[in-house]
Amino acid sequence: MLLYGNYIFLSFLGLFFFLWYVINTIAKTSKFQIIGEYFTHFQVKEKAIALTYDDGPNPPYTEELLNVLAEFNAKATFFVVGENVKQYPETIKLIQAQGHEIGNHSYSHSQLVFKTPAFVKSEIEKTDQLLSELGVEKEINFRAPFGYKLAILPYILAKMKKKSILWNVDPRDYALSDPNKIQNYILNLIKPGSIVLLHDGGENCSSTIIATKGLLQELQGQGYQFKTVSEMLLLQNN
Ligand SMILES: [Zn+2]
Repeated sequence: MLLYGNYIFLSFLGLFFFLWYVINTIAKTSKFQIIGEYFTHFQVKEKAIALTYDDGPNPPYTEELLNVLAEFNAKATFFVVGENVKQYPETIKLIQAQGHEIGNHSYSHSQLVFKTPAFVKSEIEKTDQLLSELGVEKEINFRAPFGYKLAILPYILAKMKKKSILWNVDPRDYALSDPNKIQNYILNLIKPGSIVLLHDGGENCSSTIIATKGLLQELQGQGYQFKTVSEMLLLQNN
């Protein structure tokens, strides 16, 4: 009898860990979202990709990156954190003036799973508000901090009619100090329609900036174009 009880207990324990594993995998995947409109890549025929930079604005790195992008006439999308927007509004104006797109990456970069709907909503709205005060007028797309999302965040985004922008190429640039490693990782995976995840936020983004330059040089040579998320969405619909 006792043995039987132990089996039941172990089965429940096993089931519990299995469900925990499944929920965590769903929350952290960049490939899938339960509800709402989300994109890990774009269906395009043209040789075009979307470079995305997260966690800024972050002077002087964001400005240095803008100079590199301008050199190649490449457009990118910056998923910015509200707290940094508040601190560096001039950088936001510069990003906009140079024809890049600005997306919302929450207010405090807290992970938004297992949080109350009110908290999740305020994280999105506060950053939208700051951006609209700085003249960001068009539809503002969203990228979840760490890419984590379960049910509440996708539901709120769907209600706000916001698109969730994920990625399919992630070199983990923040963990690599060698620009060549970042560049080669991306070059191996890149395809028309790819969304590349990079970072202009954080302590030192020099290797990301150097990798971006090398990448633009190489891919432009291969005939690739570098477009904002909204431009890619338009291409996809054509
Ligand atoms: Zn981030």
